[in-house]
Amino acid sequence: MKRRYRAIREKGDYNPGLYTDESEADLRLKGLLTNDAELIWEIEAYTDEEAMAIYNLRMGFGPYEPMGHWQPCPKCGAPFYPFGSSECWRCGPISLEWHPCPKCGMLYPEGSNECLRCGPFDHCGS
Ligand SMILES: [Zn+2]
Ligand SMILES: [Zn+2]
Repeated sequence: MKRRYRAIREKGDYNPGLYTDESEADLRLKGLLTNDAELIWEIEAYTDEEAMAIYNLRMGFGPYEPMGHWQPCPKCGAPFYPFGSSECWRCGPISLEWHPCPKCGMLYPEGSNECLRCGPFDHCGS
């Protein structure tokens, strides 16, 4: 689902943060964003990864690296990032079953061929 992302900068800060309407409302409620915080720009994007890619471009941070490898969406085949937003830009949030890594116990999503901590799984057996 396409949603709005707003780059908002606190007075005195150099870099703005990037927030969805929900996360902005939440932070304002908690007082973590003040009334003085100013809107720098806003964009619409389908996933956090898309929004972060544009954020990095506009900030001069270099290419955005999504967390973990992409996997094909189980519904439409479009790449999505289960370790990141786990959202397909076409279908929306994807719920996967997560399994503990046999080496370190950290959870990885079904269909993944890597553990974020240990790296790619060795399919030749060990
Ligand atoms: Zn999809
Ligand atoms: Zn592991």
